[in-house]
Amino acid sequence: MGGLRQHTIPFRGLKEGKHEFEFVADNSFFEQFDSSEVKKGLVKIRIDLIKHTTFLELHFDIGGRVTVICDRCLEPFAMGIKHQAELYIRFGEKTYEQSEEVLVLADSSFEIQLDQYIFEYVHLALPYKRIHPEINKHSGCNEEMIKKIEDHTAHEETEETDPRWDKLKGLIN
Ligand SMILES: [Zn+2]
Repeated sequence: MGGLRQHTIPFRGLKEGKHEFEFVADNSFFEQFDSSEVKKGLVKIRIDLIKHTTFLELHFDIGGRVTVICDRCLEPFAMGIKHQAELYIRFGEKTYEQSEEVLVLADSSFEIQLDQYIFEYVHLALPYKRIHPEINKHSGCNEEMIKKIEDHTAHEETEETDPRWDKLKGLIN
């Protein structure tokens, strides 16, 4: 995670009250994460930060377009996403994640690093099932790919190990 320092908010100098920030996560952002299910994307992150005397309150409003892999034909496609989230930051002796919504920052901190949060929120915005949208009531999937997958599946024995194939079999049968 060493190179990730794109999305930070230096909060020390801020006055108490509300402040607005805007960030963008683009292809290069998602490329930094090996585990990213988003292969490409252009996502806008709007943050309302409310600085209180002893803690910070962050409201995230995320929206944009991302490219993911279709569960059915395994080809990439672009989809719109939207997500909202809240993060509370309080201060302590050392930095640690108290819960999904509460981050404790070491007293010596002067900025918040948001890359990991933005990454997680974008993934939370993805639907459980990702399938090409229909075009004029016809599947938007790559039918040739599905044919290949079906042929492959037909030749496989039941002890197939890749869960993706099992999932596909379930869909085809
Ligand atoms: Zn598809």
